[in-house]
Amino acid sequence: NRLSPIRRLSTSASSDTLPSTFKGLIVEKTRGNPPISEIRDLTPSQLPDFDVTVKVEYSTLNYKDALAITGAPGVVRSYPIVPGIDYAGTVVSDRSGTFEKGTKVILTGHGVGEKYWGGYAEFARAKPSWLVKLPESMTTKQAMSIGTAGFTAMLCINALEKQGLSPKHNFQTKVLVTGASGGVGVTAIALLASLGYRVTASSGRKWTHETLTKLGSKHIIDRFSDEKVRPIDKELWDGVVDSVGGVTLAKAISQCKTNCAVAACGLAGGTSLPTSVFPFILRGVALLGIDSVYYPNAKRDEVWSRIAAKVPWNLFESATTVRRPNELSEMANQLLSGKSEEIIGRTVVDCG
Ligand code: NDP
Repeated sequence: NRLSPIRRLSTSASSDTLPSTFKGLIVEKTRGNPPISEIRDLTPSQLPDFDVTVKVEYSTLNYKDALAITGAPGVVRSYPIVPGIDYAGTVVSDRSGTFEKGTKVILTGHGVGEKYWGGYAEFARAKPSWLVKLPESMTTKQAMSIGTAGFTAMLCINALEKQGLSPKHNFQTKVLVTGASGGVGVTAIALLASLGYRVTASSGRKWTHETLTKLGSKHIIDRFSDEKVRPIDKELWDGVVDSVGGVTLAKAISQCKTNCAVAACGLAGGTSLPTSVFPFILRGVALLGIDSVYYPNAKRDEVWSRIAAKVPWNLFESATTVRRPNELSEMANQLLSGKSEEIIGRTVVDCG
């Protein structure tokens, strides 16, 4: 953070001016039983003992949150937990003296909502090094309409550009976005189109196509469903943002042009990678792995500033819905089905 330290405060966690109880969504799981997720009254002493207490205004529903809420293995390290891998809100107090009371902040990643209690409550606590100051031109609601998924989409595009991708006159640089109507997908489309790229969206849900077009997709193709993928196929893409993995990622790699790159960040369609070395050694295709969780905090301000400047906010609203924490259990199951007729793009959670 480019923040000047302020006077170190001597407040302790217990002297935060917090209400004696506040609401939060908690997930509990005991051996052999399905998880229970419900809204409960929580107390400040249940929050993790980190320096910064934040009044959470908005959180979001990401793929990982859906796994956490439904008790799927691989995300939550110990129960009970308040899920929510990201949030934006206002600093209530900071024992480290890094943030002044009232500062608007964003948190994504760092194991929050997985190892540590997360954003689905009225209050949360974090280490100062996990927080980023909200860009001035952005509201906390807009920040969470981007959230972890959108931040990751920006990281994918930055990585592709570092590898050589650049927009050409008249939208001639062709970029494929897979998992297009998901959170990573819609943000990638909006950002790429606004940066001057010709976007092809790969989506399996026809009812979302109008929104994907509005966001800037020039073409929409179906999901890749081939059982078997040829490692080398017709050269189509100057770059790819993939959040699906599996056969989809293998197919995208096979269609990448010579010396172009694929940014891979997700596994919504599978964890395997059924390809061979041929696209890498015969075409010089680069496979760029993207991890947003432990992306260095020192570089995050720059990423958020680019998002703030490049997202077409008026259009982006059409790919965002706002829900309350008590709706999350049902929505998590829908999101994981990959076939929801209700959820498109980003789901913001109003925690206020
Ligand atoms: P969403 O559920 O919002 O989007 C995933 C999209 O993938 C769906 O909307 C759907 O798009 C497509 N999809 C779903 N199931 C399948 C399937 N079986 N086969 C093919 N396509 C499918 O999730 P997010 O966008 O939030 O996250 C996407 C992935 O990226 C997740 O695996 C998530 O864990 C990962 N991720 C990784 C991060 C990192 O730091 N590496 C950070 C954020 C997310 P459509 O209906 O249009 O086909």
